[in-house]
Amino acid sequence: MSLTQLINNLVANASLLLAGLYIISRLTCLGFTTKLPLRRQVTISFLLAGLSVLITLHGVLWNAQADFQYGFVPIMIAALYFGLSGVRITYVASILVLPFILSETLLLIAFLDYSLAALVSVAFLHFRERIIPSRDIRIVNGISLGFITLFSLLNFYTYDQAETYVWTFLAFLTIGYAAGFVLHIVYGGIHKMQRSERLISQYKEAAFTDALTGIGNRRRFEEEMKRVDEEVFTGTQDVALLLLDIDHFKSINDTYGHDAGDVILVELAKRLNDSARSDDVVCRNGGEEFTVLLSDCNLSQGFVIGKRYLRQIAETPFVLPDGSSIDVTVSIGIASTSEAKVVTSAQLTKKADVGLYVAKRSGRNRLGKWKELKAN
Ligand code: GH3
Ligand code: MG
Ligand code: MG
Repeated sequence: MSLTQLINNLVANASLLLAGLYIISRLTCLGFTTKLPLRRQVTISFLLAGLSVLITLHGVLWNAQADFQYGFVPIMIAALYFGLSGVRITYVASILVLPFILSETLLLIAFLDYSLAALVSVAFLHFRERIIPSRDIRIVNGISLGFITLFSLLNFYTYDQAETYVWTFLAFLTIGYAAGFVLHIVYGGIHKMQRSERLISQYKEAAFTDALTGIGNRRRFEEEMKRVDEEVFTGTQDVALLLLDIDHFKSINDTYGHDAGDVILVELAKRLNDSARSDDVVCRNGGEEFTVLLSDCNLSQGFVIGKRYLRQIAETPFVLPDGSSIDVTVSIGIASTSEAKVVTSAQLTKKADVGLYVAKRSGRNRLGKWKELKAN
């Protein structure tokens, strides 16, 4: 094999490594963090083992003593990101597959490659637990250059002329470094991309959350209403909407102070959230007004739940910051998509609003429905 062929093959091998790592990281949304759930770590470690084997299969056998391939890199990456369990899975899984696909000489070389990589990684882990991603790549790069140098030195006696040896060695170093450099850039890029994806989802979450109570805000409610229009009215399941408003909240604020008012808002949100099912959506739509969108629920089921909320709020006093406690009640308006005249989310909200008005008019601490003049 000529030097040019060898270089071409090595570049192809490095490309395989880069493409494989990229695909794995996209497939698994690999967050480049050691804090991934164990199941994801195991899955990714197995995928990395598969990549090691694939790269080794396309490795270049230089002579009887050495092959050149980057099959050891995924093992190191597993170690760097998922610690001892990562390197164990990737190393053992790849070693177990090798005898089925490689001939004796190559098998021995690959086995040595993998074992050295695993050993170096374990030693490295022993010295440093927490790793910064971009630095990881530099470390992998450094180790891979070390490998190239080591194998090259081990093979020194196979060269007739020192000059050929020096040129070959320099070529390997250049390719090795270039591959590592590209790896560094690609990895850094993926890492940045995923970080911004994570940040965007964090900001999104914050934009839909009420800062005081931690439940959904008005924007979240509007999103849910869009979903109701798109899914509920075209589907078979009903939803019910409860619109809650604290009774005489202004006088609570005036008597006990704004801080006490805030504490009540937080506690009310907690009570609503605690008794909601996981598919229900609880929001603070503004001021002292809350909504609970009850999934898979018709009007009569919604009534039962609404009454339960009235009891849970009225029967347990709210504790104020000074340690005293006061009774708080709410009025609730209810509407459901099970009603004949409710065919859009705007109508659902409007009817619940009228229901709330009926509840307030009828004396508060009750559940009102738009069709009825008196709430109960
Ligand atoms: P009603 O029984 O008719 O609902 O009477 P109300 O006093 O609750 O109704 P009103 O709408 O007049 O008062 C709402 C009050 O809610 C006025 C405002 O001071 C208070 N409020 C709105 N947002 C907040 C908040 O974030 N924190 C506190 N502490 N109070 C708030
Ligand atoms: Mg109000
Ligand atoms: Mg009120």
